[in-house]
Amino acid sequence: MKKVPIDSKLAGQRNERLILSMLRRYDKLSQSQLCRLAGIGSSTASTIVARLREKGFVIETPGTSADRGPKPTLIELNPGCCYLFGVEINPSYLFIGLFNFTEKMIDKIHISLGPDHSVQHVLDLLSVNIPGLLSRTQIDPQKVLGIGVTLSGSVSSQGWVSLSSPLGWKNIPLKENLESFFDFPVFVYNNRVRLLAEFALNPELKSRNVLYLNVANGVGSTVYLNGVLISGASERYGEIGHIVVEAGGPVCGCGNKGCLEAFISGPALASQIHKDFMAGGADCFANAFKEKSTLPLPEEVLSQWSMFIKQKNTYAMALCDFVVNHFSKIAAMLINCYDPDTVILAGYISEQLYDSFEQNIRDRMKKEVYDSSLRNIEIRPAGAGKDALVKGIVNAILQELTDV
Ligand SMILES: [Zn+2]
Repeated sequence: MKKVPIDSKLAGQRNERLILSMLRRYDKLSQSQLCRLAGIGSSTASTIVARLREKGFVIETPGTSADRGPKPTLIELNPGCCYLFGVEINPSYLFIGLFNFTEKMIDKIHISLGPDHSVQHVLDLLSVNIPGLLSRTQIDPQKVLGIGVTLSGSVSSQGWVSLSSPLGWKNIPLKENLESFFDFPVFVYNNRVRLLAEFALNPELKSRNVLYLNVANGVGSTVYLNGVLISGASERYGEIGHIVVEAGGPVCGCGNKGCLEAFISGPALASQIHKDFMAGGADCFANAFKEKSTLPLPEEVLSQWSMFIKQKNTYAMALCDFVVNHFSKIAAMLINCYDPDTVILAGYISEQLYDSFEQNIRDRMKKEVYDSSLRNIEIRPAGAGKDALVKGIVNAILQELTDV
């Protein structure tokens, strides 16, 4: 077990976490504001703040006041007391963000993964680039509070990846593997961190019933019901990408045939377009494929697809209709199942087809969703971009460490 500097074992230190979580939420507070918000007495607050100051977690600065007399001292988090890494593992790239204690990204690195998606290759890249980032920012490794990693797939709370079909990973003890490389705590998250990123970056998002649908290199969902993220009996929740939509269809990364992900994920679509091109169709993609020694990344092929849809190219539009229909049918089913008031459409495929996805889901709701006229559902695009995903990871780590 790695040592976490914010001690969560002793009951007396519950107040440390409480004060840190208040400062994360409100930025700067006077001691009397802290007492009121945290519901603790003045002498307890003084003792705890002094202890946190000694450990370097908080700093005190003189405040301002319109009144005469002494100015209140304001307490805030010390940005440089510790640091955290947020890492996104994607089939196309690794994205590493280095954050300070106030969740400000101070450095980042984007590494193309290339054709080798093996666990070893990813571990090798992380084991070089994480110390590299520390070295170029001259940050003491002792100050690293943790590293949080996210990827698409089924991930247990113990950091075991049972399946990530976009990466082709099965039964990988990812947390354990990473802990053998790094001397600081490792946290592994699945897609739920994307929804946390939405909440962290969009304070106006107040819904307690959100259906979050991600269509990118993987296809998945996160469901937040009555203010709680659902997790399921075996933590294999939200795997809408593995709903079989056409028995006997193409083989999916999970081993089944005809899964939604095998039709509408980025890699599946790019491979379908390439197959159609080789068979003499999809001629608008000639520039993308001709005389290229390696196949372009799905994101590159699909950004061209999006351009051809806007130009009303017949092939591109037919493929768009196919994707939109498959996706919105599943979205309508999920609305029937979960009764959300907010549906968030995320991922680069959703971003490119957002207007068509939204319109088609609304059309289907009228015909396929029970009592749809009595539901008031907001459909919105995800606001969290690539940087925001690693920000969501860091937010999730700090939430875990400071939650009371
Ligand atoms: Zn599947």
